[in-house]
Amino acid sequence: MKLKVNETFRSIQGESTYAGLPCCFVRLSGCNLRCSYCDTMYAYEEGKYIDIDSICESISGDSGIDLVCVTGGEPLMQTGTTILVSQLMKMGYTVLIETNGSIKLHCLPGKAIYVMDVKCPDSGMSHHMDWDNISLLRPQDEVKFVLSSRSDYEWAKCVLEDYHLFGKVKLLFSCTKGRIEPGTVAKWILEDRLKVRLQIQLHKYIFDEERGV
Ligand code: SF4
Repeated sequence: MKLKVNETFRSIQGESTYAGLPCCFVRLSGCNLRCSYCDTMYAYEEGKYIDIDSICESISGDSGIDLVCVTGGEPLMQTGTTILVSQLMKMGYTVLIETNGSIKLHCLPGKAIYVMDVKCPDSGMSHHMDWDNISLLRPQDEVKFVLSSRSDYEWAKCVLEDYHLFGKVKLLFSCTKGRIEPGTVAKWILEDRLKVRLQIQLHKYIFDEERGV
């Protein structure tokens, strides 16, 4: 079976609780959303079809890195993604699947980890969320709110309360670089004693807008 792949590369994981670790990335092509801050527009169409075995082989060539992130675009748009994840898990990798929250979560093997966005209003895409996904999350999964403003922050707090997310999954508040300062969000989190993990988009601070790193 083949998947449409935009690029594979190794880099430092920029977000999630795995931020800072060396990671192999498989970026799949295609996305059903158009977020206002999207930095991977090149993945909407570009890509070539590659056999799943060949993708796994290229990953295993990077010996010494045991973390793989399957990202996009939106990886769940392609039905073969679950097969890729299963195969990578069998090879002994820790596998993260970054998804935008708008597509029903597929049933994943054992310890594979979803990092699911909840699209905030300033993304322009919050109306696309599939809220039923919340009930499909498991304790190892992570939910990420990418914040662009105070109103996004207030909205995210309401979602946390309304969907009883505290203690259910790992919670990430990420700051859109250039739109909101991490120090500002840090103050709000401390004022509210909010049990969430503040993230900067680490890869953007290290590599700026460089692609494939
Ligand atoms: S979901 Fe991700 S890839 Fe798709 S438009 Fe939004 S930021 Fe870009």
